[in-house]
Amino acid sequence: MQFQVIIIGAGPAGCSTSLFLSKHKIPHLIIDKSCFPRDKICGDALSGKVIEVLKKYDENIVQSMAADSSHFLGSWGVKFVAPNGKALDIPFKQNTNAEQHAPGFISRRMHFDAFMVQQLDLNYATLWTGVEVKNITSILENKCINIIKEGQEQMLECKVVVGCDGDRSIVEKSLLPRSMDPKHYCAGIRAYFKNVSGLHPQNFIELHFLEELLPGYLWIFPLGDGSCNVGAGMLSEYAGSKKINLRVQMLKAIANNKNINERFADAQLEGKIQGWGLPLGSKKRKLSGDGFLLAGDAASLIDPFTGEGIGNALYSGYFAAEAIAQAIALNDYSAKFFAVHYDQPLYNRLWAELKLSHKMQQLSKYNQLFNFVVDRAHKSATLRNTISCMFEDLDLRAQFKNPVFWWKMMIGK
Ligand SMILES: Cc1cc2nc3c(=O)[nH]c(=O)nc-3n(C[C@H](O)[C@H](O)[C@H](O)COP(=O)(O)OP(=O)(O)OC[C@H]3O[C@@H](n4cnc5c(N)ncnc54)[C@H](O)[C@@H]3O)c2cc1C
Repeated sequence: MQFQVIIIGAGPAGCSTSLFLSKHKIPHLIIDKSCFPRDKICGDALSGKVIEVLKKYDENIVQSMAADSSHFLGSWGVKFVAPNGKALDIPFKQNTNAEQHAPGFISRRMHFDAFMVQQLDLNYATLWTGVEVKNITSILENKCINIIKEGQEQMLECKVVVGCDGDRSIVEKSLLPRSMDPKHYCAGIRAYFKNVSGLHPQNFIELHFLEELLPGYLWIFPLGDGSCNVGAGMLSEYAGSKKINLRVQMLKAIANNKNINERFADAQLEGKIQGWGLPLGSKKRKLSGDGFLLAGDAASLIDPFTGEGIGNALYSGYFAAEAIAQAIALNDYSAKFFAVHYDQPLYNRLWAELKLSHKMQQLSKYNQLFNFVVDRAHKSATLRNTISCMFEDLDLRAQFKNPVFWWKMMIGK
């Protein structure tokens, strides 16, 4: 069977690629081994960047999310808690009155991913779920994709394949094999808890930098059904070398750390604590080659400080569709073409943020420094505004280069 474009994976990266290809009226096949709704281990937080890309496609999608508060809980800010227990509340937006809906949302991936699949435009997208890709090979100018559909092995052919199949991507493994780099990879665990007390009235997401989890952190994200997504993440380099069992450390912190334990006094764990990896975007990589592109986690694009990957997955899908539309118009599917029309514009959009987040991730291992920054931010409106602007996606680099900014921060203005 022959197709011009095949997308592998119908998570955020795959759905975004499909939606923007449909906008260009390009027919394509999108395959996922799961049937939706399906779970994905995640913190479930949808940042302003997710909203930004969805609005590029269709403003109404965001309006329907905002209208369904039991599945999409609006969040207005973030709470950072330093190892010494001092908390800092940072709103995502300075002027909340002007907003029609919250700047961010929290939604179980079971709901969000199924919602995204429902948005696909079936005039252009052919969706196959429950179909697993086993491997991919290159024959002449085509890609041959070996799949298992309804228990039968089949071979598909296409001009271009988009690897949106997440961490441990089969597309990456088949076409651009490379080993995991523990300096740029994070281990993560996620649990759902009922009856966590002390949540913020505006549903702020919470990042707790606890002594026992440094240089990682524990998060508490409220959900529309009254429960919370609670999890922890740590760079694999540290978790491996210090033999840290994240699950044990998280449960220990919930039971004993005085920054949070009282809030879990009546909490009940729902289901199991589950783990999954976060391929971080803290190092530039090749994202494409002859007849293929990688997007989302398959391209290692997760923010190394916040762990946010959904927004970058959606952005990479947008840029992948733009590059493919140009490739079809010029009949050029070469590695050189995609390096210029995909890798380059995508990194132009994301690299400055990824680099800044990498610096912050490296600093977060110094707990005294973290205590100091939160202390300063309590006293310094400049620093509070700067952190808030980071979430509004303004150009921060200019501020960091300005000595007046650092002076105001140090003297607490
Ligand atoms: C513990 C944890 C917490 C996180 N918290 C957050 C958060 O709060 N906010 C945030 O923005 N990001 C978070 N992330 C990151 C986020 O989950 C990912 O960045 C995001 O899911 C990437 O989307 P994707 O579409 O690239 O991949 P995925 O969501 O992993 O989707 C890949 C899809 O490909 C399919 N697939 C895989 N292999 C095959 C195959 N061989 N054949 C066919 N189909 C296949 C899978 O079934 C899946 O549906 C977190 C990650 C972890 C591990």
